[in-house]
Amino acid sequence: MPELPEVEALVADLRNRLADRALARVDAVAFSVLKTFDPPLSALSGLLVEGVRRHGKFLDIDAGGLHLVTHLARGGWLRWRDEQPKAPPRPGKSPLALRVVLDDGSGFDLTEAGTRKRLAVYVVRDPAEVPGIERLGPDPLDDSFTVEVLGEILRAAGRSQVKGVLRSQSTIAGIGNAYSDEILHVARMSPFKPASNITGDEVQHLYDSVQTTLRDAVARSDGVAAADLKKEKKSGLRVHGRTGLPCPVCGDTVAEVSFADSSLQYCPTCQTGGKPLADRRLSRLLK
Ligand SMILES: [Zn+2]
Repeated sequence: MPELPEVEALVADLRNRLADRALARVDAVAFSVLKTFDPPLSALSGLLVEGVRRHGKFLDIDAGGLHLVTHLARGGWLRWRDEQPKAPPRPGKSPLALRVVLDDGSGFDLTEAGTRKRLAVYVVRDPAEVPGIERLGPDPLDDSFTVEVLGEILRAAGRSQVKGVLRSQSTIAGIGNAYSDEILHVARMSPFKPASNITGDEVQHLYDSVQTTLRDAVARSDGVAAADLKKEKKSGLRVHGRTGLPCPVCGDTVAEVSFADSSLQYCPTCQTGGKPLADRRLSRLLK
């Protein structure tokens, strides 16, 4: 799933490509991709693109009074095309979910792999009308996100595990499963540590880890074409998705905790004093 750094790169890429262009046509191909019905998609036709912005993991194309907003979800991606086909796309088994055609014939496709379709598109007059945007917490790359703000968030989260706090969009916007693993590895902190137990210097250390992890990833993604972003993201990860491989810091084997529909990765030596974290699913199976 694209998280803050990848969406930031997509926004930068699209900002260049969409500058001074008008939307010619937007076609929803997949059933249920469009989450709004008023205004209709056709209301976008002919509107000049005035800006492209990111809200957390949402991408927002501002077309003078109307916004085309999308959340790529887990299997979603954006593919730029210098020349879009002339004929409108037909619904079918392809991963194509939405096609945007610009006034010069170029455009982009939103695609979604897998059977669970969660990619979402909204046409709204104000981005805050999108429920997921309205609920977003502060953006960690915004100037107003200070170490004091993070300290307040951790205190308010009480006994909640820090991993969940970092990836909760209503608490901090834009960090998902991958970058929360990476941030906690940089911070040398257990993903299960209760948020309110993080005090003093540890807050500053976690704050610095959030900043360096996200800013490094943004810098690495900068100028990378949309098609290559996934590969770029993967190559920069230290523990996420690397179960069984050596930790790049200490050489210990990266371990994993599985949940119903996701998993987290961590380094026992760097993060949990060498102790493996309880994997509830695994211990249930062994009973
Ligand atoms: Zn390690």
